[in-house]
Amino acid sequence: MPLDSPLIIALDYPSLDTALRMADQLDPARCRVKVGKELFTRSGPEVLDALHGRGFEVFLDLKFHDIPHTVAGAVQAAAELGVWMVNVHAGGGRRMMAAARECLDAQGYATRLIAVTVLTSMADDDLAEVGVDASVADQVERLALLARDSRMDGVVCSARESSRLRNLCGDDFLKVTPGIRPAFSAPEDQRRIMTPREAMASGSTHLVVGRPVTRAEDPMAVLAAIEAELAER
Ligand code: C5P
Repeated sequence: MPLDSPLIIALDYPSLDTALRMADQLDPARCRVKVGKELFTRSGPEVLDALHGRGFEVFLDLKFHDIPHTVAGAVQAAAELGVWMVNVHAGGGRRMMAAARECLDAQGYATRLIAVTVLTSMADDDLAEVGVDASVADQVERLALLARDSRMDGVVCSARESSRLRNLCGDDFLKVTPGIRPAFSAPEDQRRIMTPREAMASGSTHLVVGRPVTRAEDPMAVLAAIEAELAER
């Protein structure tokens, strides 16, 4: 049965063992998991095999950005490893994104392919410094439209951008949103946060949640509390 939960739990751990210890406390019928650069660089594809073996669908968050041929090959490799979702930087341009899409289509892979627009660590003056005169908000919109036109399935975005991007790119365009904090948890280093419910109401289609779940004494209890919050009418 396809998983209908919007929840993606970020397994931000430095090793295979610590990541799997957390995964073993989660239910693959109720969430997906995200593997990022540190864990993948340490553990390699072994972590994906271990998670798939436990029944998890995996978002491989490696944010590829390179020449089209290289990115297409990397995305194909991710699809071969069986991941549910993979991402690239929209700043790599139309030809790069199109090459990745064509490669997946040509081989019949259903792997979701999404794009990062502007990293949330970047402010307007950081963009100016790298020669982009647009504001962050305008650049996010520009790159989201380029991603949609290059046949990406969606973007990674802040929940604050979701409603605008829903209007621009449509409901079916995926909006995968980190910076999620349930009302009952600490913001930590995330500055512009939203609750799961607010983010879904704003148009996010998937929620990336890390520490509120992974640092909890009982991760599944927090996951259940988020589910309950989302189910409220
Ligand atoms: O622990 P926390 O819920 O803050 O984790 C959020 C996850 O989403 C981390 O893996 C982090 O790298 C990622 N992320 C983010 N903000 C972005 C993009 C990705 O927090 N703008």
